[in-house]
Amino acid sequence: MARQPAAVAESNGDRLRRLLRIGSTHVGHGIFASRRLKSGIVIGEIAGEVMDEHPADPSYCMELPSGKLLEPAAPLRFINHSCDPNCELFYWFDEEASTQEDRLWLQTIRSIEPGEELSIDYCWPADAAIPCRCGTDHCRKWIVDPAERHLLPDEPPAGG
Ligand SMILES: [Zn+2]
Repeated sequence: MARQPAAVAESNGDRLRRLLRIGSTHVGHGIFASRRLKSGIVIGEIAGEVMDEHPADPSYCMELPSGKLLEPAAPLRFINHSCDPNCELFYWFDEEASTQEDRLWLQTIRSIEPGEELSIDYCWPADAAIPCRCGTDHCRKWIVDPAERHLLPDEPPAGG
């Protein structure tokens, strides 16, 4: 039986399973690289459910270019925030296909070593911010959009 080229045969889910694994971190689940990932590569599409309204627990929701929300499915649901992230979300801008506005992808923004945790900057609005424990040198102390950082106290409340 003829074999398909890997690039054709591999689904988004297969690719994610090959590149990533779910592990535990001090803030719950996280996503870790299974192999070395170069800077600037597309890891995969954020699969999930597109919604018009915030669900009861919006903590995993990602905002789409269309203004709708994406409730991501595992494994990318578990990507954690960092104030100095190694990945970012992006979407393809395509005037011919407006449906692309409801799709998000994840790409690396620097090289990642095997076993290293993948992270993105959540950039939450100030009214949704929670204390950040990313531990990087550039930590803003809150999980918040840098443009709205000034709306919050310098230090999160003790014990938060
Ligand atoms: Zn931080």
